[in-house]
Amino acid sequence: MDPVTLPLARYDALPDALLRIGPREIRSVFPDPALIHLEGLAGAPVFLSVLLHGNETTGFFVLQRLAHWMRSHKLPRPLIIFVGNVHATEAGVRHLAAQPDYNRIWEGGPGPEHALAMEVLAVARDARPFAAIDIHNNTGLNPHYACVNRLEPEFLHLASLFSPTLVTFNNPSSVISMAMANICPAVTVEAGKSGDARGIERAFDLVLDTLHLHAFRTSGLERKVSIYETVGRVELARHLSFGFTETSDADLVFPADLERWNFTGLKAGTEFATSRVPAPVLRVVNARREDITADFFARDGNAIRLTRDITPSMLTRDPHILREDCLCYLMQEIPAPVEA
Ligand SMILES: [Zn+2]
Repeated sequence: MDPVTLPLARYDALPDALLRIGPREIRSVFPDPALIHLEGLAGAPVFLSVLLHGNETTGFFVLQRLAHWMRSHKLPRPLIIFVGNVHATEAGVRHLAAQPDYNRIWEGGPGPEHALAMEVLAVARDARPFAAIDIHNNTGLNPHYACVNRLEPEFLHLASLFSPTLVTFNNPSSVISMAMANICPAVTVEAGKSGDARGIERAFDLVLDTLHLHAFRTSGLERKVSIYETVGRVELARHLSFGFTETSDADLVFPADLERWNFTGLKAGTEFATSRVPAPVLRVVNARREDITADFFARDGNAIRLTRDITPSMLTRDPHILREDCLCYLMQEIPAPVEA
């Protein structure tokens, strides 16, 4: 029996109806994952991916902005758009229960989604793109930031068009930006919370700026940037209750405004949380899932204090994410590899 394949629909224009629907109606326009080839005036295409995560709708609104803009402008470069998990977008979730995460399918695998990803990558490779942009959102109070998988000047130039706040990572390696980084300068943008108006504006501007750019810098930096690398992921011990006020009687209590710590340098000694439970309540793991908690946290009575300077990201008060995913990531700033 042939393996199940997923249809990849091809288009050569953004449908007008796109301007009249919301993200949850996406399948009235794109019933299946879609690849849209738009003509431009000259040069290599920009590759844009949106909605790899169905509940991260900023990419949808960027497509609407583009459709509107294109009514009165010609694209300076061709644009190839991959519209990813339309089924999850319709349902308003990251991915359906029966699906893999569409941003973890880009280094091969047995499923139909992996085959779909390979088909998209083959098209991208043939098109010899100028740049690749993948648009995402996150929860919690984070600045708009851009992620790169390589610290080469072209990648940093592209990323810094979106934000001076950059994060570098190589894990997980199955994300689309890692696959695209083998083809052209690639960036993942984190445009704040889903649908955040300023995030939409900024992501749209990045796409337009990239379409208008003649060439990337091959040395030096375009602007001053802060580059962070992730050193650990903080998870909660199971079966703990948690709260966010000083009067909370939960097992683990965080400051009410902990999301304000995102992308803020915290000093060694900072009280990160309090707990009356003597057993370990926080666990820090590295990319290889080794326990590195002792490198970052120490108990001081009920207080859990940082033992070194660190910058957290993705801190969230969302109880579902706290339980199912993680509390936050711990990052350290690294020097920019090239001076401005
Ligand atoms: Zn995402």
